[in-house]
Amino acid sequence: MIRLQQLCKRYQLGDEPVQALDHVDLRINAGEYLSVMGPSGSGKSTLLNMLGLLDQPDSGEYWLDELEMTALSEEGRAAERNRRIGFVFQAYHLIDRLSARENIELPLVLNGTTPSERRPRVNELLQRLGLERHAEHLPHQLSGGQRQRVAIARAVIRKPQLLLADEPTGNLDSHSGNDVIELLEELNAEGITLVMVTHDAAMGRRARRRLWMQDGQLLKDEQDAHA
Ligand code: ADP
Ligand code: ADP
Repeated sequence: MIRLQQLCKRYQLGDEPVQALDHVDLRINAGEYLSVMGPSGSGKSTLLNMLGLLDQPDSGEYWLDELEMTALSEEGRAAERNRRIGFVFQAYHLIDRLSARENIELPLVLNGTTPSERRPRVNELLQRLGLERHAEHLPHQLSGGQRQRVAIARAVIRKPQLLLADEPTGNLDSHSGNDVIELLEELNAEGITLVMVTHDAAMGRRARRRLWMQDGQLLKDEQDAHA
């Protein structure tokens, strides 16, 4: 499903160039569950942003299905991103003035789904995530774990094929963090490809495939034997 070929990304930090991604080769099959680990500054978020079409590499190729993402225009990338990719961030990024329901619904509003089609899909997700009683609450009225569940619901409401999570439990206590990971794993079990950046080794070990990065390079790619 995903093929990265010799992907490079350099940033300028003052006078210092930083090689955030250094000739990264990577293949990911549909339905895989990967964690990405490594020290701070090793390029994990940059890799995730590339996969999520939030950023363009300086060189190299990114193929998603049979499409070369690196050959698309900005508009083309945005269209593919909206259609295929969901994001979950450490800081939730919910809209403060919108209720849980409205936050979850937003991607469908933006792509022109009619209210009568939106309602059952949002209700199904609210129920599934145990958020029905909180549907009309604003983000500040929710716990961290509930906020992250709303963010995950918003990320999957359009049924993306790829779900990218950057430290999704970074702001949560271990109990609600565990709930969030279990939810992500459930979505993966249903077929969504899941790539999760974490610096929590215990969390990272739960993934069937684990990547380690250092200085912008893939240092290790470890996979459980297939059952
Ligand atoms: P990680 O997620 O592993 O902490 P990042 O991908 O965030 O690593 O960063 C990799 C390197 O690229 C770091 O040295 C970081 O300082 C640098 N970097 C990342 N994003 C930017 C940016 N927007 N501008 C300048 N440097 C950046
Ligand atoms: P399914 O018949 O298994 O629901 P779909 O084609 O409807 O499959 O959805 C494709 C993918 O979108 C699923 O594998 C799942 O990861 C995600 N998905 C579908 N429905 C939901 C839902 N209600 N909540 C969260 N994710 C969903």
